[in-house]
Amino acid sequence: MFRYSTIKDYHNALQNGQTTCVEAVLFFIDAIRKHERLNAFLEVYETEALDRAAALDKERASGKPMGKLHGVVTGLKDVLSHKDHKLSASSRILDGFTAIYNATAVERLLQEEAIVIGRQNCDEFAMGSSNENSAFGPVKNALDETRVPGGSSGGSAVSIQAGLCMISLGSDTGGSVRQPADFCGVLGLKPSYGRVSRYGLIAYASSFDQVGIFGRSVDDLALVLEVIAGADEFDSTVSQQPVPKYSQQLSDDQKTYRIAYFSEALENPGLDPQIKAQTEAFIKRLTALGYTVEAVDFQLLDYIIPTYYILTTAEASSNLSRFDGVKFGFRAAEKNADLTELYKATRSQGFGKEVQRRILLGTFVLSAGYFDAYFTKAQQVRRLLMDKANELFGKYDFIISPTVPATAFSLGEKTNDPVEMFLADIYTVFANLVGIPGISLPIFRHPNGLPFGLQVMSSQYNELSLLRLSKKFMLIAN
Ligand code: GLN
Repeated sequence: MFRYSTIKDYHNALQNGQTTCVEAVLFFIDAIRKHERLNAFLEVYETEALDRAAALDKERASGKPMGKLHGVVTGLKDVLSHKDHKLSASSRILDGFTAIYNATAVERLLQEEAIVIGRQNCDEFAMGSSNENSAFGPVKNALDETRVPGGSSGGSAVSIQAGLCMISLGSDTGGSVRQPADFCGVLGLKPSYGRVSRYGLIAYASSFDQVGIFGRSVDDLALVLEVIAGADEFDSTVSQQPVPKYSQQLSDDQKTYRIAYFSEALENPGLDPQIKAQTEAFIKRLTALGYTVEAVDFQLLDYIIPTYYILTTAEASSNLSRFDGVKFGFRAAEKNADLTELYKATRSQGFGKEVQRRILLGTFVLSAGYFDAYFTKAQQVRRLLMDKANELFGKYDFIISPTVPATAFSLGEKTNDPVEMFLADIYTVFANLVGIPGISLPIFRHPNGLPFGLQVMSSQYNELSLLRLSKKFMLIAN
């Protein structure tokens, strides 16, 4: 019987002839079928995945060396272009649209011989924290189907949680990889802004968006990051910095790491007391193990959610203007409509409620009379946050915090209160505002039975240290 633990073990099993890529794909297709109720996948590429698996098995048998991700069964959030496959951002507005090229991250996975098993459900245009904003229905948390998986990359997180694929790629603009990873008890990594190309990633807020990775182990995340990261002639925002071989450098003997945590984050009245207590207990354990862990002030905590939602909605209102019924996908069936009427009808029918709310909000904060009061102010706060991050990383190597202030909430619980929903992002948006990497590590369990994570952040492009420390933390926690 096929069992999956890590890519490394899987590759060993392939080489020893204990399993095949076809067997792996069949195993996951069966698991996806059994978990259809979770609504994690919008589409499963059964035949294509099996054909590719068979071809890989044949190549391996003929002695061809394996690619780094040989036969790795991968899910893609429905915001990443995968040539000749449907792409919808879980929105009706992209009805019938087929990707005409591969996103760079996807291209690199395929070059290293990954197998894409399917397209994963998410919040429409990656806007949301519960996966309830999908035009194709919510995704359900596999541990408790009355609860949300988190969002926006809910389908990608649940796919790892329920064992429906080996790794998933998602996107993280304000927490969309780390927050669902927290709710589902899996690992979720958001690399630095500029570490992974966004070419072929449907844009939500371009100065925040980053491709992220879900998996079951630090080793898997490290290997996938190593494959997808690095300079790309199709995305000028990607750093030219060389990409370390993360997967081969995960152990180090450094014990002197200095770690900070924000006192305001742990004193936040919205923080679940159990999450607070277990996070504090973990900090005590780290101190006992010889780590320096210190509380630092972060008076801007209350400003980060408003800042994030002003800037991201502003950018979204611009990015989403291209979906007008003329260029892509869906067009409203308005008879005799002039162009403006066609735009209006298409956008009103094609976009869901939350996306419309954000386009309106973004248009408002950019409008002449309010630009300085909102957009400019938010940019100024972003600068203060950057200064704060630079100051902190002068003194510390890492910042830790809970990933989310509460465990997975019930479906429908927050759908009528967008501000409540926004508050689920309070600890994750900082990393996106300042461009640093962050990871959610599934090391805690709440007395209510649900998992929750510890978030670790490092300075920009310091993923190697982040992954190394994560590996240690996973060992300490187990
Ligand atoms: N929940 C946040 C939002 O709705 C984060 C989304 C994301 O990271 N894509 O904007």
